[in-house]
Amino acid sequence: MTDVQMFAGPNDLHLHSNHSDGTESPAEVVRQAHAHGIRTLALTDHDRTTGWDEAAEVTASLGMTFIPGMELSAKHQWRSVHVLGYLFDPENTALRAETDRIRDDRVGRAERIVRNIGRDYELSWSDVLAQTTADATVGRPHIADALVARGIVRDRSEAFDGILHPREGYYEPHYAPDPLTAVRLITGAGGVAIIAHPVTSGRDRMMPVAFIEQLIAAGLGGFEIEHRENTEAGKRTLRTLAAKHDLIVTGSSDYHGAGKPNLPGENTTADEMVSRIIAQASGTRPRYPGA
Ligand code: AMP
Ligand code: FE
Ligand code: FE
Ligand code: ZN
Repeated sequence: MTDVQMFAGPNDLHLHSNHSDGTESPAEVVRQAHAHGIRTLALTDHDRTTGWDEAAEVTASLGMTFIPGMELSAKHQWRSVHVLGYLFDPENTALRAETDRIRDDRVGRAERIVRNIGRDYELSWSDVLAQTTADATVGRPHIADALVARGIVRDRSEAFDGILHPREGYYEPHYAPDPLTAVRLITGAGGVAIIAHPVTSGRDRMMPVAFIEQLIAAGLGGFEIEHRENTEAGKRTLRTLAAKHDLIVTGSSDYHGAGKPNLPGENTTADEMVSRIIAQASGTRPRYPGA
């Protein structure tokens, strides 16, 4: 059997731990995924790879396959674009430099948002630090948790619909590369690049098709189509585009522990698509059970 066929589904290729904005440790994320029936999973924390080893230890002990991943922050004009990277070399210098820069800038940006909010609400930076594990990738979800702890909002969703929404005026952007750079960094590190939730409704709606075709020409591997935040019309557009260019299509939960209602396995990726990701990648290999 070739290495590509050694995993078993169901496959969930997008989950977050407390190394970014999930609420559980990598070990707990794996246990939760297993409890929901998942047998192959990717940990995809925002802009960092430090959760891989812990996750891989637990997948090994549970007889699961671990696919190393990351969700790289990018930006197209005003749009926040998330690019999932799978099986890239975590030591790649260019990719590491970029993720270091993004995480670094996220800290100052979060402090600015908190300062803005602090003008109108009782909230300080130490409240946010109390919600963040040591050097996790800091984001608005941690500010949301601080707002919850202060009793200002009920949960993350209420924070995102209100105070953290750009229309409220407290929002600040953070540095992120443009999507072309993001795709090239991931493929340059031997990974496979998949655009996460490409067609959410609202202000982050889909990038123009002509631009997506530039990303495809630059090596984009495919789209995450089955995701609860993609619109139905958008999914149809993406399926057509994926078929036209023979791209990989995935489905995933985007699990964040208690931080979002999303549950492991609520969307899954076909075995054939996982095989294609493994076959295309050269940066690192999946961690198979018993290996
Ligand atoms: P940031 O990257 O700091 O701007 O924060 C965006 C992150 O917040 C995304 O990665 C999502 O995981 C999370 N997020 C966005 N909307 C919500 C929501 N309504 N509830 C919980 N988390 C959310
Ligand atoms: Fe997130
Ligand atoms: Fe995302
Ligand atoms: Zn995500």
